[in-house]
Amino acid sequence: MTETIFAQNNYLLLPGRAVIGALLALGVAGMAWRAGSLGRSGLVAAAICGTLCAIAGWSWAALLVLYFIAASGLSWAGKAEKEARTQSIVSKAGRRDAAQVFANGGVYSIAASVTVLFAAPWLAWGAVGALAAASSDTWATEIGVWLGRQPKSIISRTNVRPGQSGGVTTAGMVGSVGGAAWVGLAAVLLGFPRGLGIASILAGVGGSITDSVLGATLQERRWCDECAQPTERAVHLCGHTSRRVGGIQRLDNDVVNLLSTIAGFLLGVIVYCIAERSGNWGAID
Ligand SMILES: [Zn+2]
Repeated sequence: MTETIFAQNNYLLLPGRAVIGALLALGVAGMAWRAGSLGRSGLVAAAICGTLCAIAGWSWAALLVLYFIAASGLSWAGKAEKEARTQSIVSKAGRRDAAQVFANGGVYSIAASVTVLFAAPWLAWGAVGALAAASSDTWATEIGVWLGRQPKSIISRTNVRPGQSGGVTTAGMVGSVGGAAWVGLAAVLLGFPRGLGIASILAGVGGSITDSVLGATLQERRWCDECAQPTERAVHLCGHTSRRVGGIQRLDNDVVNLLSTIAGFLLGVIVYCIAERSGNWGAID
Protein backbone atom coordinates (compact mmCIF):
# COMPACT_ATOMS: atom_id res chain seq x y z
CA MET A 1 0.00 0.00 0.00
CA THR A 2 1.33 3.39 -0.87
CA GLU A 3 2.48 5.68 1.90
CA THR A 4 -0.07 8.28 0.88
CA ILE A 5 -2.78 6.01 2.29
CA PHE A 6 -1.20 4.80 5.53
CA ALA A 7 0.08 7.37 7.97
CA GLN A 8 2.15 4.99 10.09
CA ASN A 9 5.47 6.49 9.06
CA ASN A 10 4.72 10.00 10.20
CA TYR A 11 3.31 9.90 13.70
CA LEU A 12 4.88 13.30 14.34
CA LEU A 13 2.38 14.90 11.99
CA LEU A 14 -0.57 13.22 13.68
CA PRO A 15 -1.41 15.84 16.35
CA GLY A 16 -1.28 18.56 13.71
CA ARG A 17 -3.60 16.60 11.42
CA ALA A 18 -5.97 16.01 14.35
CA VAL A 19 -6.22 19.72 15.15
CA ILE A 20 -6.43 20.97 11.56
CA GLY A 21 -8.75 18.07 10.72
CA ALA A 22 -11.10 18.91 13.58
CA LEU A 23 -11.26 22.56 12.46
CA LEU A 24 -11.86 21.63 8.82
CA ALA A 25 -14.43 18.98 9.80
CA LEU A 26 -16.28 21.53 11.94
CA GLY A 27 -16.17 23.95 9.01
CA VAL A 28 -17.60 21.45 6.49
CA ALA A 29 -20.19 20.11 8.95
CA GLY A 30 -21.10 23.68 9.91
CA MET A 31 -21.78 24.54 6.26
CA ALA A 32 -23.97 21.42 5.96
CA TRP A 33 -25.81 22.49 9.11
CA ARG A 34 -26.40 25.97 7.70
CA ALA A 35 -27.61 24.44 4.42
CA GLY A 36 -30.10 22.35 6.39
CA SER A 37 -28.51 18.94 5.68
CA LEU A 38 -27.43 18.26 9.27
CA GLY A 39 -29.12 18.83 12.61
CA ARG A 40 -27.14 19.89 15.68
CA SER A 41 -26.33 16.33 16.82
CA GLY A 42 -25.57 15.41 13.21
CA LEU A 43 -23.10 18.30 13.01
CA VAL A 44 -21.21 17.01 16.06
CA ALA A 45 -21.24 13.43 14.72
CA ALA A 46 -20.00 14.53 11.29
CA ALA A 47 -17.21 16.59 12.89
CA ILE A 48 -16.14 13.53 14.92
CA CYS A 49 -16.10 11.33 11.79
CA GLY A 50 -14.15 13.98 9.87
CA THR A 51 -11.57 14.31 12.63
CA LEU A 52 -11.05 10.52 12.84
CA CYS A 53 -10.48 10.45 9.07
CA ALA A 54 -8.05 13.40 9.17
CA ILE A 55 -6.06 11.55 11.85
CA ALA A 56 -5.86 8.60 9.43
CA GLY A 57 -4.64 10.91 6.65
CA TRP A 58 -5.83 13.55 4.18
CA SER A 59 -6.84 11.00 1.52
CA TRP A 60 -9.21 9.39 4.00
CA ALA A 61 -10.71 12.73 4.97
CA ALA A 62 -11.06 13.85 1.34
CA LEU A 63 -12.87 10.61 0.48
CA LEU A 64 -15.36 11.20 3.32
CA VAL A 65 -15.97 14.76 2.12
CA LEU A 66 -16.48 13.61 -1.50
CA TYR A 67 -18.99 10.97 -0.33
CA PHE A 68 -20.77 13.57 1.78
CA ILE A 69 -20.96 16.24 -0.94
CA ALA A 70 -22.55 13.84 -3.44
CA ALA A 71 -24.96 12.36 -0.87
CA SER A 72 -26.07 15.82 0.34
CA GLY A 73 -26.38 17.13 -3.22
CA LEU A 74 -28.56 14.20 -4.23
CA SER A 75 -30.79 14.60 -1.22
CA TRP A 76 -31.44 18.20 -2.32
CA ALA A 77 -32.30 17.16 -5.89
CA GLY A 78 -36.07 17.07 -6.30
CA LYS A 79 -36.41 17.59 -2.54
CA ALA A 80 -39.96 18.93 -2.49
CA GLU A 81 -41.34 16.13 -4.69
CA LYS A 82 -39.51 13.45 -2.71
CA GLU A 83 -40.74 14.77 0.62
CA ALA A 84 -44.30 14.92 -0.64
CA ARG A 85 -44.03 11.27 -1.70
CA THR A 86 -42.36 9.86 1.40
CA GLN A 87 -42.99 12.06 4.42
CA SER A 88 -45.82 9.92 5.74
CA ILE A 89 -43.55 6.85 5.67
CA VAL A 90 -39.96 7.79 6.48
CA SER A 91 -38.98 8.05 10.12
CA LYS A 92 -36.71 11.06 9.69
CA ALA A 93 -37.00 13.71 7.03
CA GLY A 94 -34.88 16.83 6.59
CA ARG A 95 -31.82 17.36 8.78
CA ARG A 96 -29.74 14.27 9.55
CA ASP A 97 -29.15 13.50 13.22
CA ALA A 98 -26.16 11.85 14.93
CA ALA A 99 -27.59 8.31 14.65
CA GLN A 100 -28.01 8.72 10.88
CA VAL A 101 -24.51 10.16 10.47
CA PHE A 102 -22.82 7.42 12.51
CA ALA A 103 -24.93 4.71 10.82
CA ASN A 104 -23.53 5.85 7.46
CA GLY A 105 -20.02 7.10 8.22
CA GLY A 106 -19.14 5.45 11.54
CA VAL A 107 -17.67 2.15 10.30
CA TYR A 108 -15.53 3.92 7.67
CA SER A 109 -14.24 6.58 10.07
CA ILE A 110 -13.41 4.18 12.89
CA ALA A 111 -11.70 1.70 10.53
CA ALA A 112 -9.77 4.61 8.95
CA SER A 113 -8.49 5.77 12.34
CA VAL A 114 -7.45 2.21 13.26
CA THR A 115 -5.13 2.13 10.21
CA VAL A 116 -2.91 4.62 12.04
CA LEU A 117 -2.05 1.90 14.58
CA PHE A 118 -2.52 -1.10 12.35
CA ALA A 119 -1.72 -0.47 8.70
CA ALA A 120 -3.23 -3.58 7.12
CA PRO A 121 -4.41 -3.39 3.49
CA TRP A 122 -7.52 -5.48 4.23
CA LEU A 123 -8.61 -2.85 6.73
CA ALA A 124 -8.46 -0.19 4.01
CA TRP A 125 -10.47 -2.36 1.61
CA GLY A 126 -13.07 -3.00 4.30
CA ALA A 127 -13.25 0.67 5.29
CA VAL A 128 -13.77 1.92 1.74
CA GLY A 129 -16.27 -0.93 1.17
CA ALA A 130 -18.27 0.35 4.15
CA LEU A 131 -18.30 3.92 2.81
CA ALA A 132 -19.24 2.64 -0.64
CA ALA A 133 -22.19 0.79 0.93
CA ALA A 134 -23.38 3.98 2.62
CA SER A 135 -23.00 5.90 -0.63
CA SER A 136 -24.69 3.20 -2.69
CA ASP A 137 -27.66 3.05 -0.34
CA THR A 138 -28.04 6.83 -0.20
CA TRP A 139 -27.88 7.22 -3.99
CA ALA A 140 -30.33 4.32 -4.44
CA THR A 141 -32.83 5.89 -2.06
CA GLU A 142 -32.50 9.46 -3.32
CA ILE A 143 -32.54 8.61 -7.03
CA GLY A 144 -35.12 5.84 -6.64
CA VAL A 145 -37.63 8.04 -4.83
CA TRP A 146 -36.92 10.98 -7.14
CA LEU A 147 -36.94 9.33 -10.60
CA GLY A 148 -38.14 5.78 -9.98
CA ARG A 149 -41.53 4.34 -10.89
CA GLN A 150 -43.63 2.15 -8.63
CA PRO A 151 -41.26 0.50 -6.11
CA LYS A 152 -41.55 -3.24 -5.49
CA SER A 153 -40.37 -5.22 -2.47
CA ILE A 154 -36.95 -6.76 -3.15
CA ILE A 155 -38.20 -10.01 -1.56
CA SER A 156 -41.90 -10.46 -2.39
CA ARG A 157 -41.94 -8.36 -5.60
CA THR A 158 -45.26 -6.82 -4.48
CA ASN A 159 -45.85 -3.08 -4.75
CA VAL A 160 -44.75 -0.94 -1.81
CA ARG A 161 -45.05 2.79 -1.16
CA PRO A 162 -42.23 5.15 -2.23
CA GLY A 163 -39.79 5.52 0.65
CA GLN A 164 -40.83 2.28 2.30
CA SER A 165 -37.82 0.18 3.35
CA GLY A 166 -37.15 -2.88 1.21
CA GLY A 167 -38.66 -1.32 -1.90
CA VAL A 168 -36.55 -1.16 -5.06
CA THR A 169 -36.91 0.53 -8.46
CA THR A 170 -34.82 0.35 -11.63
CA ALA A 171 -33.72 3.96 -11.16
CA GLY A 172 -32.74 3.14 -7.59
CA MET A 173 -30.63 0.19 -8.75
CA VAL A 174 -28.81 2.40 -11.25
CA GLY A 175 -28.28 4.87 -8.40
CA SER A 176 -26.93 2.08 -6.20
CA VAL A 177 -24.20 1.25 -8.73
CA GLY A 178 -23.51 4.96 -9.24
CA GLY A 179 -23.11 5.64 -5.52
CA ALA A 180 -20.69 2.75 -5.06
CA ALA A 181 -18.75 3.65 -8.23
CA TRP A 182 -18.47 7.27 -7.07
CA VAL A 183 -16.65 6.21 -3.89
CA GLY A 184 -14.52 3.65 -5.81
CA LEU A 185 -13.49 6.22 -8.42
CA ALA A 186 -12.80 8.92 -5.85
CA ALA A 187 -10.68 6.48 -3.81
CA VAL A 188 -8.52 5.58 -6.82
CA LEU A 189 -8.08 9.27 -7.75
CA LEU A 190 -7.01 9.95 -4.15
CA GLY A 191 -4.26 7.32 -4.36
CA PHE A 192 -5.93 4.18 -3.07
CA PRO A 193 -5.08 1.03 -5.11
CA ARG A 194 -7.08 0.35 -8.28
CA GLY A 195 -8.18 -3.09 -7.06
CA LEU A 196 -9.67 -1.44 -3.99
CA GLY A 197 -11.70 0.86 -6.25
CA ILE A 198 -13.22 -2.13 -8.06
CA ALA A 199 -13.77 -3.99 -4.78
CA SER A 200 -15.64 -1.07 -3.31
CA ILE A 201 -18.15 -1.12 -6.19
CA LEU A 202 -18.92 -4.78 -5.38
CA ALA A 203 -18.92 -4.15 -1.63
CA GLY A 204 -21.07 -1.03 -1.99
CA VAL A 205 -23.76 -2.64 -4.13
CA GLY A 206 -23.68 -5.74 -1.89
CA GLY A 207 -24.15 -3.53 1.17
CA SER A 208 -27.01 -1.69 -0.47
CA ILE A 209 -28.74 -4.99 -1.37
CA THR A 210 -28.26 -6.07 2.27
CA ASP A 211 -30.00 -2.86 3.31
CA SER A 212 -32.99 -3.55 1.07
CA VAL A 213 -33.28 -7.21 2.11
CA LEU A 214 -33.13 -6.32 5.82
CA GLY A 215 -35.58 -3.48 5.16
CA ALA A 216 -38.03 -5.91 3.57
CA THR A 217 -37.67 -8.64 6.19
CA LEU A 218 -36.32 -7.97 9.70
CA GLN A 219 -36.76 -4.19 9.95
CA GLU A 220 -39.45 -3.03 12.34
CA ARG A 221 -42.73 -2.33 10.50
CA ARG A 222 -45.21 0.11 11.98
CA TRP A 223 -48.80 0.98 11.18
CA CYS A 224 -50.97 4.04 11.84
CA ASP A 225 -54.50 2.88 12.71
CA GLU A 226 -55.88 6.40 12.35
CA CYS A 227 -54.82 6.72 8.68
CA ALA A 228 -54.67 2.97 7.91
CA GLN A 229 -51.17 3.51 6.47
CA PRO A 230 -47.76 1.93 6.94
CA THR A 231 -45.10 4.20 8.43
CA GLU A 232 -41.62 4.07 9.94
CA ARG A 233 -42.43 6.93 12.29
CA ALA A 234 -43.12 6.14 15.98
CA VAL A 235 -45.53 9.10 15.96
CA HIS A 236 -47.26 9.44 12.61
CA LEU A 237 -47.66 12.77 10.79
CA CYS A 238 -51.30 12.88 11.96
CA GLY A 239 -50.08 12.97 15.58
CA HIS A 240 -51.19 9.43 16.50
CA THR A 241 -48.72 6.90 17.87
CA SER A 242 -48.12 4.08 15.40
CA ARG A 243 -47.85 0.46 16.48
CA ARG A 244 -45.40 -2.26 15.52
CA VAL A 245 -46.95 -4.81 13.18
CA GLY A 246 -43.89 -6.81 12.20
CA GLY A 247 -40.12 -7.08 12.20
CA ILE A 248 -37.79 -6.81 15.16
CA GLN A 249 -38.39 -4.10 17.72
CA ARG A 250 -35.84 -1.22 17.58
CA LEU A 251 -34.37 -2.59 14.33
CA ASP A 252 -35.10 0.73 12.67
CA ASN A 253 -33.71 2.36 9.56
CA ASP A 254 -30.55 3.57 11.33
CA VAL A 255 -29.69 0.08 12.63
CA VAL A 256 -30.32 -1.39 9.16
CA ASN A 257 -28.03 1.27 7.64
CA LEU A 258 -25.31 0.44 10.15
CA LEU A 259 -25.63 -3.28 9.38
CA SER A 260 -25.40 -2.60 5.65
CA THR A 261 -22.16 -0.64 6.10
CA ILE A 262 -20.81 -3.56 8.18
CA ALA A 263 -21.78 -5.85 5.28
CA GLY A 264 -19.91 -3.49 2.93
CA PHE A 265 -16.86 -3.69 5.20
CA LEU A 266 -16.93 -7.51 5.26
CA LEU A 267 -17.42 -7.71 1.50
CA GLY A 268 -14.44 -5.38 0.97
CA VAL A 269 -12.29 -7.64 3.15
CA ILE A 270 -13.52 -10.79 1.36
CA VAL A 271 -12.74 -9.33 -2.08
CA TYR A 272 -9.29 -8.34 -0.79
CA CYS A 273 -8.61 -11.90 0.37
CA ILE A 274 -9.74 -13.34 -2.97
CA ALA A 275 -7.68 -10.80 -4.93
CA GLU A 276 -4.63 -11.47 -2.81
CA ARG A 277 -4.88 -15.25 -3.29
CA SER A 278 -5.52 -15.19 -7.00
CA GLY A 279 -2.73 -12.65 -7.42
CA ASN A 280 -3.89 -11.48 -10.84
CA TRP A 281 -5.51 -8.17 -9.97
CA GLY A 282 -2.33 -6.24 -10.53
CA ALA A 283 -1.27 -4.04 -7.65
CA ILE A 284 -3.70 -4.69 -4.82
CA ASP A 285 -1.75 -2.99 -2.07
ZN1 LIG B 1 -51.70 8.67 10.87
